[in-house]
Amino acid sequence: KLHLYSVRESYRELEEKTRRLEQALTRLKELDRLKLNFLATVSHELRTPLTSIIGYSEMLGEGIAGELNEEQAEFVKTIHGKGEQLLALIMGLLDLSKLESGTMSLRESPTQISRVLGDVVSTLAPVARKKEVDLVLDDDGVACELAADPERLRQVFVNLVDNAVKFTPKGGSVTLRARVVDGADDDEPGAALLAPVRRDVVVSVADTGIGIPPVERAKVFDAFYQVDSSSTREYGGTGLGLSIVKRIVEAHGGTVRIESNEATGAVFVVTLPSAQSRRSLPSRVPAAL
Ligand code: ADP
Repeated sequence: KLHLYSVRESYRELEEKTRRLEQALTRLKELDRLKLNFLATVSHELRTPLTSIIGYSEMLGEGIAGELNEEQAEFVKTIHGKGEQLLALIMGLLDLSKLESGTMSLRESPTQISRVLGDVVSTLAPVARKKEVDLVLDDDGVACELAADPERLRQVFVNLVDNAVKFTPKGGSVTLRARVVDGADDDEPGAALLAPVRRDVVVSVADTGIGIPPVERAKVFDAFYQVDSSSTREYGGTGLGLSIVKRIVEAHGGTVRIESNEATGAVFVVTLPSAQSRRSLPSRVPAAL
């Protein structure tokens, strides 16, 4: 009898503990939701005044409100540069909060990869020219349609090319190359017999910059990770770009990997399934587990 009593007691205790754990979990989920909400609201509210700061400092720099002396021009340039840096951080945080909450939407539309890459190159050509880095597009007339969100893919390649230019010294080069290849077999056994051969688009972004040591290759895709995060770091940036790139590429059914060599620079390789190999795009980037 005593035994039965103690079993019942233990059961009751267990039930109580489970109830408390469930309560704590609900509370944690609620806090997480509030955190993401807060992040999204603050980022959004910061963006508007910052856009004014950037716009007005740019106009001042162009001499629209009168000629500036050398020192004034230098100060205005710093304000403008720091404003741009802050805006990039805010946009990155906004994207991160969308990714975490599973609310980054994807708008599928038939997408020609060569058009996306051409657009990326014309956007970043002035940045490369300013740094005296040669920016080359080699897509060999690749005509391949993707079931993709062109705006998000553009974001992916702007990020990769922007990094490539940033980590490449003056006189170097950045090459964007696109090819169509017969892809890996489908996951389902036998599917390859029924379906047409899977085709993938492979885009590589190769630079002649500082490269990425092998031990760092997996880590650079983590949010906020930078290879050299010391305060004397000479490159700006937020450490958010590649984590966002990876999530967007994976939501497209693709992969991104690094083939880098410190001696010759970094090579990022993005593989994306063509439209004929992929049924459709999810309407949102799925939240990470
Ligand atoms: P960041 O805003 O710092 O560029 P990313 O997430 O885009 O953030 O990149 C993370 C880190 O990966 C960078 O800080 C840099 O250390 C490394 N990295 C990314 N691209 C390159 C590249 N092309 N060459 C060398 N290092 C790179």
